[in-house]
Amino acid sequence: ADGPEDRHVGLLVLGAGPGGYTAAFRAADLGVETLVVDARDTLGGVCLNVGCIPSKALLHAAKVISETKEMAEHGIRFGEPTIDLDELRSWKDSVVTKLVGGLAGLAKQRKVTTVQGTGRFVSPHRVEVTTADGSTTTIGFDHAIVAAGSEPVRLPFVPHDDPRVLDSTSALELAEVPARLLVLGGGIIGLEMATVYAELGSRITVVELMDQIIPGADKDLVKPLAKHIGARYENIYLSTKCTNVEATDDGLKVSFDGAKAPESDTFDAVLVAVGRTPNGKVLGLDAAGVAVTDRGFVEVDNQQRTNVEHVFAIGDVVGQPMLAHKAVHEGKVAAEVVAGKNSAFDARVIPSVAYTDPEVAWVGVTENEAKAQGLSYGSGTFPWAASGRSLSLGRSEGSTKLLFDTETDRIIGAGIVGPAAGDLITEAALAIELGADAADIGLTIHPHPTLSETVGMAAEAFEGTLTDLY
Ligand code: FAD
Repeated sequence: ADGPEDRHVGLLVLGAGPGGYTAAFRAADLGVETLVVDARDTLGGVCLNVGCIPSKALLHAAKVISETKEMAEHGIRFGEPTIDLDELRSWKDSVVTKLVGGLAGLAKQRKVTTVQGTGRFVSPHRVEVTTADGSTTTIGFDHAIVAAGSEPVRLPFVPHDDPRVLDSTSALELAEVPARLLVLGGGIIGLEMATVYAELGSRITVVELMDQIIPGADKDLVKPLAKHIGARYENIYLSTKCTNVEATDDGLKVSFDGAKAPESDTFDAVLVAVGRTPNGKVLGLDAAGVAVTDRGFVEVDNQQRTNVEHVFAIGDVVGQPMLAHKAVHEGKVAAEVVAGKNSAFDARVIPSVAYTDPEVAWVGVTENEAKAQGLSYGSGTFPWAASGRSLSLGRSEGSTKLLFDTETDRIIGAGIVGPAAGDLITEAALAIELGADAADIGLTIHPHPTLSETVGMAAEAFEGTLTDLY
């Protein structure tokens, strides 16, 4: 029933993003003959090529600009920055090139075969790969791991073919800096790109359907970010629906439906960042008998196995949260199970980070969720206005909040807002994984003066043992 094949491998991995390359490398290390197929000409998927990494390079550039502005109030004044977009773009590209080149080397070392082309399941044990020149090759496999990721959501009323309409990929290309940019969607990706373009000189408007930016995080956590960007951006329209985008000679005419927004306004560019859709429906998975949900997710068990015994799936294509570190861990599990180990995905929590200014990070149960679930919880909060290190950075708006189970005192969640919150959240993630309680965290000696102290202080605040400013 499987038909002819041009070659046969032990494991075929479809998609070479963080999930796919991790799975391929782990499987190869465990002695499985592995081949990876990706439509791109480099490994690394969305994250390395057009996601996490290029965005962080540009966010670093934005931070340098904003910090020089902040220091102007404290006696150090630089001139207005002159921005050479071509050089900035080349630097960003060079960061990506270094990383994806590194992956190619690691694949070679492990004798992982890479095939460039678009893959499609044509039967339970065959994937047909179509290369850029249109030729096809059929690869047979004993096991497959689907790691085909996700794509930006497109909206039916938006003229996506107009070059002034951007998605995260084209926004990262940095073709130009529009004078007025509308960011459609106040989630992590939209706000990170807004952070970049604001510092490069765009006047930013953000429109968000929900009543807060970054709707997944607690409102109090997001407040310092809302205040920071509220003072810098032209407009932030919450509880507002964008109903139409029309291409005109003068710009993109956008219609809104919301109490505070105008009926319409015209922008030089619109960045659509309203979420990502999984690629599960475009891989021919029905030919392999693999079940895909209406939304395009592939369902898996805790060993990343689909309903078909020898086919596994990992990363964005299996569900939320669509984050690289989740994909990586799932990739390891799938590879190990393919290699005969009895591994399972058993993470208690997966941290989320918005690399905005200030950063917003959370892990475990949010306070919104704790309330909705009726959990008996208590919280300890340390405001960074009392942190010597934060004040030395010229910033006071941050906050560290820890949530504890009131019966056991064990930590169940954490939210941090402030510069470097994304790095600080790891301690809370580890504490949750270890089942640490408030005393474990409060009695752990944190180095002074660091932002990490705020985690210890928040635990002390919960215990009632906090004595001091830090
Ligand atoms: P992907 O990285 O999506 O890779 C899938 C690969 O499969 C792609 O290379 C694609 O070409 C290939 N593919 C798909 N279909 C086929 C096919 N039929 N044939 C051949 N190849 C195919 N996450 C974080 O954790 N931290 C961040 O800071 C972060 N920043 C982000 C910033 C932006 C702008 C974006 C867009 C995303 C960001 N993400 C971030 C999300 C992160 O990129 C994804 O969660 C991660 O890349 C998912 O990995 P994956 O392995 O599931 O697949």
